[in-house]
Amino acid sequence: MKNEVNRGLAPKKKIQMVDLQSQYQRIKQDIDAGIQEVIESAAFVKGQKVSDFQAHLEAYTGAKHVINVGNGTDALQIALMGLGLKPGDEVITPTFTFIATAEVVALLGLTPVVVDVEWDTMNMDIESVRKAITPHTKAIVPVHLFGQCANMEAIMALAKEHHLFVVEDACQAIGAKYTFANGETKQAGTIGHIGCTSFFPSKNLGCYGDGGAIFTNDDDLAARMRAIANHGMVVRYHHDMIGVNSRLDSIQAAVLDAKLPHLDEYIAARQRAAAYYDKAFEGNDKLLIPGHEPHSTHVYHQYTLRVVGADRDKLREGLAERGIPAMIYYPVPLHQQKAYLDPRYKDGDFPVAEKLASCVLSLPMHTELDDEQLAYITSSVLELIG
Ligand SMILES: *Cc1c(COP(=O)(O)O)cnc(C)c1O
Repeated sequence: MKNEVNRGLAPKKKIQMVDLQSQYQRIKQDIDAGIQEVIESAAFVKGQKVSDFQAHLEAYTGAKHVINVGNGTDALQIALMGLGLKPGDEVITPTFTFIATAEVVALLGLTPVVVDVEWDTMNMDIESVRKAITPHTKAIVPVHLFGQCANMEAIMALAKEHHLFVVEDACQAIGAKYTFANGETKQAGTIGHIGCTSFFPSKNLGCYGDGGAIFTNDDDLAARMRAIANHGMVVRYHHDMIGVNSRLDSIQAAVLDAKLPHLDEYIAARQRAAAYYDKAFEGNDKLLIPGHEPHSTHVYHQYTLRVVGADRDKLREGLAERGIPAMIYYPVPLHQQKAYLDPRYKDGDFPVAEKLASCVLSLPMHTELDDEQLAYITSSVLELIG
């Protein structure tokens, strides 16, 4: 049966959710040289590579300050610590996201307040945010899910009206651009008071281990977050605040500094694959292609279908049998996660997020997908949904 299904169509190159081996082979010389340089310098922590990468990332994003940290989760935690929030302060996050967004809120003793998302863009829904604001609300953490910015024009206006901080979770959206009504364009992560990103290997700008960064244009916040990431230390061995130990190591910085000049090409390759998928699936009544936030570009960290007229899990199994991986990001919204169950919320409170959790399916998405692979993936999906 399996052989019959494949009918010799399967591409020679194995299909993966993310193909980091092929991507490495293209820039192997630069990566290897950068890593070698760090090893020979023995400056493994806070070396030249880390400050070089910081300067290059500031230039790329337009952020006045980049603070490199150990991972994206630390970036979010340090951002909230930098704002000086107190236990009981409420922080609004979408319920449809990766757990890290709410985890750091809870860890700091702050109160996560979750809101629903939009059906088309899968990003934070502005009316839900408005309704969730109370006198205790201190910050909004929009997530630029799957690689396109949330409705930042409305979020920034709402935050201004209510004197709230905005911390962008741009872990999936580095390089995405948002254009405001006044014509101004800013990068994901540089719009709110603080932005956070992750360099986890599979992210759009990934290192070969863990890494993350914080963006801000505010000098005081930058100084405070830099100190917090370094044990709350401003002058050596003098600790002005309680901090953490979170840093990007020099080997990871060398990898990132070699990859950053390619980020725009990487984004274009992802957009090309997404356009191929869109073309194959557009107008299909069993699958909905990703909806677009009109003011943002999409860097396609994920290409996520909503399977509305077929059995999502059967489709996923069928694809797996043909050697095509597909993933469910995310199967359970925050308010239904065991660790985050809260008497304020019950099933059905966030109907869009709950519906999405039951129907989303992310297809392989990376910089190395070729037409042979894309043709095989799209024709398989279409055959399987019948
Ligand atoms: C990856 C990710 C994070 C966490 O980043 P790590 O580097 O894995 O800690 C946080 N939020 C979102 C939306 C992410 O995708």
